[in-house]
Amino acid sequence: MSVLYDYFGGLYINLTNRCPNQCEFCIRNYTDSLGSADSLVLDRDPSVEEVKAELRRWDVNAYDEVIFCGYGEPTERLPELLELARHIKAAYGKPIRINTNGLADLIWERETAPDLEGVIDAVSISMNEADAEGYERLCHPRFGLKSYDAMLKYIEDVKKYVPDVAVSVVSGAISREALEKCRAKAGELGVYFKVR
Ligand code: SF4
Repeated sequence: MSVLYDYFGGLYINLTNRCPNQCEFCIRNYTDSLGSADSLVLDRDPSVEEVKAELRRWDVNAYDEVIFCGYGEPTERLPELLELARHIKAAYGKPIRINTNGLADLIWERETAPDLEGVIDAVSISMNEADAEGYERLCHPRFGLKSYDAMLKYIEDVKKYVPDVAVSVVSGAISREALEKCRAKAGELGVYFKVR
């Protein structure tokens, strides 16, 4: 079980396998390993102290940023994520990114974006589709149709607290037309658009 892993020169933290979605394109459907990780399937969620101990075994200073991602939705463990982000900034001075499905507010039943202020430097949010119905068909969210609008609101909210916000779609997972609609939405939202 790998908690930290190197992927294309980035240092990633795999905090949990829990996720409210079951995306059809999720890499978990195809492989357990990614980058330097042998297996990203966790027997259990690692504690904050266990992640700190892992960080001490890595040359964190060799990396430009630290990314919370992994085989699950990192904001499922928002309190631990924020504690670790503060620790990494204090101990190593590295910028922190979260790759997220943007459903933290539904997970925690409150507005969570303010928690990120001054702690998280970049957030990449998976937009995935151009409308709620398409999103539900592709990502099978536990929260149902309301997930899409919650994700869009999260993008708007995060922009107020985090300097670098991007949204992404998965190449090949959606139609060209939907991809272009997502690109236009990203433009309206004033955030960077990525095709993964
Ligand atoms: S949100 Fe991410 S971790 Fe969750 S199912 Fe989709 S791709 Fe996988």
